[in-house]
Amino acid sequence: METSSEKEFHPKPVIMIIVDTLMDVTLQKALENNQAPVFQFLKENGQYFPTIVSPFPTMSVTVDTTLLTGTHPDQHRLPGLVWFNKKENRLINYGTSFKELRKLGIHQSLEDLFFNLNNKHISQDVTTIHEELENNDQTSASINALVFKGNTDHYYSFPKLMKWMAQLDENRAARASSEFSYGRFSKFIPSTQNKHFWKRFGFNNKASVQELNHLIKKDKLPPFTIVYLPDLDKWIHKHGRMYAKGIEKVDQQLQNVFDSFDSWEEAVEKYTWIILGDNGQAWIDSDKQRALVDLRGIFDDFKIMKLKNGVTSDDQIVLGVNERMAFIYSLDPNNVPVENLVPLLEKDDRVDVIAWKNKDHIEVRSGVQKGELRFHPDGDYTDDYEQTWFIKGDTDLLDLTLTERTIEYGEYPDALARLHSCLNSHDGDYLIASAKPGYEFIGEGSPTHVGGASHGGLHEQDSLIPMIVTGTDSSPSHLRMVDLKEWILSLL
Ligand SMILES: [Zn+2]
Repeated sequence: METSSEKEFHPKPVIMIIVDTLMDVTLQKALENNQAPVFQFLKENGQYFPTIVSPFPTMSVTVDTTLLTGTHPDQHRLPGLVWFNKKENRLINYGTSFKELRKLGIHQSLEDLFFNLNNKHISQDVTTIHEELENNDQTSASINALVFKGNTDHYYSFPKLMKWMAQLDENRAARASSEFSYGRFSKFIPSTQNKHFWKRFGFNNKASVQELNHLIKKDKLPPFTIVYLPDLDKWIHKHGRMYAKGIEKVDQQLQNVFDSFDSWEEAVEKYTWIILGDNGQAWIDSDKQRALVDLRGIFDDFKIMKLKNGVTSDDQIVLGVNERMAFIYSLDPNNVPVENLVPLLEKDDRVDVIAWKNKDHIEVRSGVQKGELRFHPDGDYTDDYEQTWFIKGDTDLLDLTLTERTIEYGEYPDALARLHSCLNSHDGDYLIASAKPGYEFIGEGSPTHVGGASHGGLHEQDSLIPMIVTGTDSSPSHLRMVDLKEWILSLL
């Protein structure tokens, strides 16, 4: 029901900029060094939330799906960048490395990325911000975000060679936001000779900013625009968590946007700005031997599915490696129950959280400390997010502090809900492992970040992201990614 006061409410368009791997520590360092004038300006003219909690695993596709749908992975069903689809009996990978994609087959990998992720894999039972707006006859734009599920059909334009090599069908629609920009495959600016548009097929900060500037200049911004800036993730992976130079480079790109107004003040008067990260990154040891936890070695007594062959009749387990987090699947739960795999992981002191589903509850173990912990929703303990839990065992395993009735989280923010939802995010018999900061998992063809940084894990280094908001005094009900959708819709 609309009241008369609501009718008079003319909200400013919201521009939400997701800076992949924006972290509070890096941003603070850049601000101290005066390397980030736009961030500084927005912070002084808005609210700053340094510790928003990401869902688990802390991988962009899962995080962005949670952000857009306001649900955990157990509802939106996008478990990770890499996961095993039991129904189709195959490993899905939306793009960790070219080596892995080539082994899984270029056609299938690109089909998954361009079509299946948004059209099929995200549950039909959840709605994104784009869909909510379209259902209310409002429009929205998505620029270079990997998650864009919407109600409008868009057709890609693939380069000839790629179309031929990967056998891609251009006549099939991607269901996306009403305004949709996606690399060089779907864009607002009709043609461009600029070379940077072709760098990584137009998935770079410069191209994202150029598309945003196009909408601003033409005064075509819809009520809600989401802009994804991918580059900082790669720089932090390589140079580590304290790479303030990366923030400086992002800020220069934001200056490009803000300088297109008569003044920066005009930019914040005209629009509501939300600038946030999507996942953090944990530091990675510079000793390669120690840094990389090779799951093929840990499980060498078992027959592990080879990427190139897919599942064969004698395969016993499948590795779904998401950098600092891994899904380990049993293909033969009668002979190889996932509990039997746990002791092998417990032997490794670089694995700090191991968890799996045991009927209606979750079991937790660790390679760092001895002990057993078990929990399930609905119990006598209440956490900061008004969730209640039954909990029994060694709470140190998840760094929980219990009082008579409450739970406080330590190094693993919102650990219980995030583990519970991850272990209910898709079908199959699997356990999950999360690495201690300093280490990352590898399987066949996994990317590595020795001496740099990496993410995916449950730890706060992977999980906490900052957010700057201008143009409103309101704030989300809780400071978690899963709570942002409802709040964003309230701004529109
Ligand atoms: Zn990354």
